[in-house]
Amino acid sequence: MSRIPEIFGSLVFNETAMKEKLPHDTYKALKKTVQHGKPLDINLANEVANGMKEWALEKGATHFTHWFQPMTGITAEKHDSFIAPAGNGKVIMDFSGKELIKGESDASSFPSGGLRATFEARGYTAWDPSSYAFIKDRTLCIPTAFCSYSGHALDKKTPLLRSMDTINKQVLRVLRLLGDDTTKSIRTTVGAEQEYFLIKKDHFKQRKDLIFTGRTLFGAKPPKGQELDDHYFGAIKPCVLDFMSELDDELWKLGILAKTEHNEAAPAQHELAPIFDTTNIATDHNQLTMEIMKKIAYKHDLTCLLHEKPFAGVNGSGKHNNWSIITDSGENLFEAGDKPESNTRFLLFLAAVIKAVDEYQDLLRISVASAGNDHRLGGGEAPPAIMSIFIGDELGEVVNSIIDECEYLKTEQGKMALGAKVIPQFKKDTTDRNRTSPFAFTGNKFEFRMLGSAFSVSGPNFVLNTIVAEVLSQFADYMETMDDLELATSTLISNVFKNHNRIIFNGNNYSKEWVKEAEKRGLLNLKSTADALPYYITDKNVQLFEKHRIFTKDELYSRYEILTEMYCKTLNIEALTMIDMVKQDIIPAVSCYANDLCVTATNKKQLSLNCKVEESVAKEVSDLSGVMYNLLVKLEDNMSKVKDYSDYRQLSEYYRDVVIPSMNDLREVVDALEVLVGTDYWPYPSYAEMLFYI
Ligand code: ADP
Ligand code: MG
Repeated sequence: MSRIPEIFGSLVFNETAMKEKLPHDTYKALKKTVQHGKPLDINLANEVANGMKEWALEKGATHFTHWFQPMTGITAEKHDSFIAPAGNGKVIMDFSGKELIKGESDASSFPSGGLRATFEARGYTAWDPSSYAFIKDRTLCIPTAFCSYSGHALDKKTPLLRSMDTINKQVLRVLRLLGDDTTKSIRTTVGAEQEYFLIKKDHFKQRKDLIFTGRTLFGAKPPKGQELDDHYFGAIKPCVLDFMSELDDELWKLGILAKTEHNEAAPAQHELAPIFDTTNIATDHNQLTMEIMKKIAYKHDLTCLLHEKPFAGVNGSGKHNNWSIITDSGENLFEAGDKPESNTRFLLFLAAVIKAVDEYQDLLRISVASAGNDHRLGGGEAPPAIMSIFIGDELGEVVNSIIDECEYLKTEQGKMALGAKVIPQFKKDTTDRNRTSPFAFTGNKFEFRMLGSAFSVSGPNFVLNTIVAEVLSQFADYMETMDDLELATSTLISNVFKNHNRIIFNGNNYSKEWVKEAEKRGLLNLKSTADALPYYITDKNVQLFEKHRIFTKDELYSRYEILTEMYCKTLNIEALTMIDMVKQDIIPAVSCYANDLCVTATNKKQLSLNCKVEESVAKEVSDLSGVMYNLLVKLEDNMSKVKDYSDYRQLSEYYRDVVIPSMNDLREVVDALEVLVGTDYWPYPSYAEMLFYI
């Protein structure tokens, strides 16, 4: 155990490594550039590159790569070795500042939406010096942003970095108006709790659906599911423990603060939670965590499933995104504190989040939209597709008292003394654990719980940062026009609580009543990805992203197009895989089983034995096979019409309205057949085997 501090961060070019490998002046200059977000001077870059190379070679690295996060949702890397010819048939190990700062890659091989058609195919990767370089697979990985030749963002890091600048600017404006002259910068922080399934590698390899789509497209429910609640926090099986312990080691070496590991609600489901970090680092780390989970699982003859809904009938996997704002002196702006004046600050920032979530419900919903996550949201296991905020009863009372107090004060005193009188002290732990809310205030942070397990946390966080920055900018604009800042602040707080009360809901989000109530309140209920995505490019959202320089209109349209295309492509692959499985594996299996039953029945008949079982099961199997065949033909027919759609929005609606129901119908019959057909005949490992035999 004592070795953990030694291995922690040993594969990261962090402060310690930099101090050791860079000349003192270079180190200082680099820190300064990073702090002020200035471009790096080439001489400085050369020195940093050299230090980095020395360090990497000592750690056994042979290659370097610009590690980036294209719109595919996974990371990309192209390895170059350090070698350079040195004459006499010899090589030296070389790495220049130019290679560190900028890389070139073919943008046309990555999703770029409309941007590809109109702009050059060339793309650039640019070093993000705020995230440390690290070594993975003997390769020095340099975290980079990825953009097109003309500077359009083609990745998930760029908008996130832009949003961090924006929220920093707006929070500082508000803090200054509140009289804070000392805070120089703030950062948003994220702790991403990651859920996943582990199954045997052998089982995985036998299922085309898992291989091609990441989820089971067929599978009858096992006799036992998660109804006994005996897996959540249960004792961890030895083979899983081995996996977790090697995973921890690898993550720690990469400086990732892996902290909590436990079993989750479904059998074979687990969770890993890190200690929170600055948003872009947390995002890089979560991407790495997912990648390394898969790799380590493979080594242990396991397969790690990160899909949102690998198995029907048991819980899917999500990712909880814990988010807060912390100043350079370490103060959390969502900590109510015990001073009345800081309570005012707390309430103002709380109000900003409430207003932002209410006004941009659509964007938050879009930030978690995917074909995979559609299986969870609203499924009674995860939050519904409706946005709302849980603030707990105690804070709820504070909010209500402010709403009322405001009326009273206006007539009686004309002046508000927000804080001491109105606001009771409340402790962190009194916010009870409402597990059903999509967006819960949990003491000193907000927990956005709608994310799917496979998501990059970049999307939800650049949206959160941007919408909160927007509301804060409105606050600051208003406060700047007011002489009496105390009055301005209290007016803002009470107005927000009054006007946006509808987004606050402390009850059970899984209930049918809430869906009705939400409709009455006028909240959006965007049930599927196809419903949600068109909201991305409404005027309101184009204006928001343009104003804060997160996206140009072109960039936003390209994101919209990529996401819609991705939704359609995912469903296309799923439908084709289903068709393939039925034709190539399931029809032969059921037909073979029916045939064996018939042969046995015939043989038995010759001996005048009772063959009722064989005959009736054969009949049942044959009848159901007939139904299955009709549904297969229908799905094929529906899929043949996909080519008639040239517009992705219409196509996404076609998948939602026609293809998905057709897939569900086919699945229902196949699952019924699986229960009828002998285990030895069925071509795939069953749910019971996959979920309980690990
Ligand atoms: P849970 O009850 O959901 O298990 P925890 O309190 O254990 O919640 O924290 C869950 C996650 O929230 C952890 O990853 C933790 O590091 C993160 N977290 C805690 N405080 C903050 C914060 N101020 N900002 C962002 N994330 C935070
Ligand atoms: Mg949680």
